[in-house]
Amino acid sequence: MDLDKVANDITKVLVTPEQIGEKVVELAGELDKKYEGKDVLLVGVLKGAVMFMADISRAMQIPVQMDWMAVSSYGHGTQSSGVVRILKDLDADVLGRHVLIVEDIIDSGLTLSWLISNLKARGAASVEIVALLRKPEAAKVQVDVAWVGFDIPNEFVVGYGLDYAENYRTLPGVAILDPKTYS
Ligand code: IMP
Ligand code: MG
Repeated sequence: MDLDKVANDITKVLVTPEQIGEKVVELAGELDKKYEGKDVLLVGVLKGAVMFMADISRAMQIPVQMDWMAVSSYGHGTQSSGVVRILKDLDADVLGRHVLIVEDIIDSGLTLSWLISNLKARGAASVEIVALLRKPEAAKVQVDVAWVGFDIPNEFVVGYGLDYAENYRTLPGVAILDPKTYS
């Protein structure tokens, strides 16, 4: 669905589809270099990271495997609760493998910091993160993210996988949701 179809629900387009496309290719090139010759498992965090995972995994030129986790930290609101539950666990065993978490957005950082310790505790050889978006002003815990696509303001955004109450995920770019839509 094109962004102009939801012009009334958003206040601003923050990242265009073209900007995402260029960034994905740039990040994939860096990941190829870093992980050349290694056994890499891409771990996508459902559902928000689906679009980013699909694009970055195909832009990478080294062989990788994909797996998925679903965790919940939000409920239906727009604030992170900090309480993380595993809704769907990995199928793969990460013992001795290089895990690259593919995330849509780092907001408070609570979900990711929890996920990193969880995967390290399972014996992964390394755990790194590539995130398309990060809200630096929203950080509640410091998370070491090796690769970030775009730093964005502390506003609730939708599109390219990111939702509000399961809507707007299929927009091709990232936009600020007009607060009147959820208040
Ligand atoms: P954190 O634990 O606060 O870092 O939140 C992580 C998760 O919350 C992300 O993976 C998203 O699924 C969701 N999230 C955080 N900020 C936004 C946003 O602005 N729009 C939509 N989802 C968000
Ligand atoms: Mg997510």
